[in-house]
Parts: sequence; structure tokens; C-alpha cells
Amino acid sequence: RPETSVTGKRVVVAAPRGYCAGVDRAVITVERALETYGAPIYVRKQIVHNRHVVESLEERGAIFVDELSAVPEGATVVFSAHGVSPAVRDEAKVRQLKTVDATCPLVTKVHHEAKRFAREDLDILLIGHGGHEEVEGTTGEAPDNVILVQSPDDVAGVEVRDPSKVAWLSQTTLSVDETMQTVTKLREKFPALMDPPSDDICYATQNRQLAIKQIAAHSELVIVVGSANSSNSVRLVEVALEAGAKAAYRVDNAGEIADEWLDGVESVGVTSGASVPDDLVTGVLEHLQQKGFPAATEERLTEESLVFALPPELRRDLRKGA
Ligand code: SF4
Repeated sequence: RPETSVTGKRVVVAAPRGYCAGVDRAVITVERALETYGAPIYVRKQIVHNRHVVESLEERGAIFVDELSAVPEGATVVFSAHGVSPAVRDEAKVRQLKTVDATCPLVTKVHHEAKRFAREDLDILLIGHGGHEEVEGTTGEAPDNVILVQSPDDVAGVEVRDPSKVAWLSQTTLSVDETMQTVTKLREKFPALMDPPSDDICYATQNRQLAIKQIAAHSELVIVVGSANSSNSVRLVEVALEAGAKAAYRVDNAGEIADEWLDGVESVGVTSGASVPDDLVTGVLEHLQQKGFPAATEERLTEESLVFALPPELRRDLRKGA
């Protein structure tokens, strides 16, 4: 049972929350690259979508760039956890950059699915958010076959070459429920719609959503720690509201919690997106204690034990002591 204060206030923190296996691997990849090759190490795009993580790696010698054109010839560049299109890999080769690929293996899996469906000449209805780096990378694997579907409302306007040859894929960090609504609508329109061989929305996204759902149902306020450009963090706010939280906000850190959010509130749920270091959550829980709430009780949905090996090109150089 959640710990309650004499005033009846309580704070419940969700588990699993925070770092997933893909983010952990990507951050360690940049750290090891800095140790192994020396600073500066260039990183294309934010290694993971968290401002604090990016700033702390910058302090250690990582330089984040938007495009490879900003990387000097011959330098080392790390590809972020969100993945890159083949065009970016080709550009790196042409510019003779040394590359280390921190793409999450679960994103790579979606790339393979896109390539396979394209080989079968299917139109691929990719459910995701336009402009997100992961969507750009996946689309780049089969640019002539991918049609972006951003929400259930988009389905009415989707046109394909042959309705008997369509498949769907998704970004890894979407709302499970909204994605299923989109798929249901797509299937009504295209009964022959083929499913991906396995879930594209990754285990970490699903676990974090399920964990906050059960807490949000009995919380007046939910606080999600995560950056504004973190897709899975933004989805956690939506999921909390749909599950019954009276209010839900995303914050980068405790300093962004407005006092008025806490006015008259007795029950608070807290979680964090997959790119968030846990000390930021600790900061939020300490802030709540300063504001008269009791210590948090953790409500755990499930254990996570997945760990990904570092990128092979980095492991090889670590062995060589490059
Ligand atoms: Fe990989 Fe999922 Fe983490 Fe994204 S959220 S890095 S897909 S494990």
C-alpha cells in the first residue's frame, strides 16, 4: 500500500521507468567512444532525446551535430539510438568518417521489416510522427514504399497502389492504444493489411505505459519526467490522462514543477521516459517532499532484464585498445 502522510497525501512512483536497454547502450557507446578514441567525438543528432544527458556528454567532449556536413573529414561520428537512413550511411562513407552505430537494435529490427516488405513490393503504412528522426530513418530504407500515417484521423486519406498489397509498421515509441485504433481503421479500409512479424512498439515503451496506467487511475496529478522532444515521454502524459489522471504534466526536472499544480492535490503519480536518468526522478520526489508530500512508494508492473551488447565496431576497437 502506498505510504500516506497524516494529511492523506501520497506519492507513487512507477516501475519500470527511465532508461531502457537501447538508451543505456547508446549513452555508454558515446562514453566508451570518448575514452577509446579521445575527444572530440561527433554525434549525429541527440544521442537520446534528453537534454540533461546531452549536456553532460557535451561537457565530456561530445559534439552534437544535426547533419554529417558539420563533421570534419576523417573524424569519428556516432549515430544516435533513433537510427539513420541508408543515405546517411552512404554520406558517411563518401566523407570517410569513422562511424559507430548506436541505433537501438529494436529500431534496426523495424528497418529490416521495412526492407523485407519493400522487397515484396508492398506499400508500407508507417504509423509514426512526421519529422521524428526514427521515422526519417525507417522511411529512408524504403522511400518509394512508405506512406506515413500519423493518427487514426489520417486513415481516411491514405491511398495505396494496390489494396491487396499493404502492410503496416510503427515507430517504436507510440501510444499502444492509439496505434491499435489506427491499425483497426486501416484494416477496415484494407482488409488484406499485413501485420509486422512482431510488435514494433518496443517492450520499454509498453511497460512504461502499462505501469503509469495503473497508477494514473488513482492519481489526481501525474508528473512525467522527460524532454519535450522525447516521443515516449510525451506519450506517457497522454496515456496518464486517458487512464484517469485529473492532470498530467511533463517536466525536464523538478525545477519545472509549478506550485499551483500541487494545490489541493493528495495523490501524485510519477514516472519518466526511456531516456531519463533516474537522478532526475529522485529530484522530483525530493521536491514533492519539500512541498509536504510523504516519501514515494514504488508500484512495479514488471522486472526488465534486457541488455544489449555495445556496437560491434566499438567492441572490436575496445579489444584492440584503440
Ligand atoms: Fe530501443 Fe525502445 Fe529504448 Fe527506443 S525506447 S531505444 S526502441 S528500447
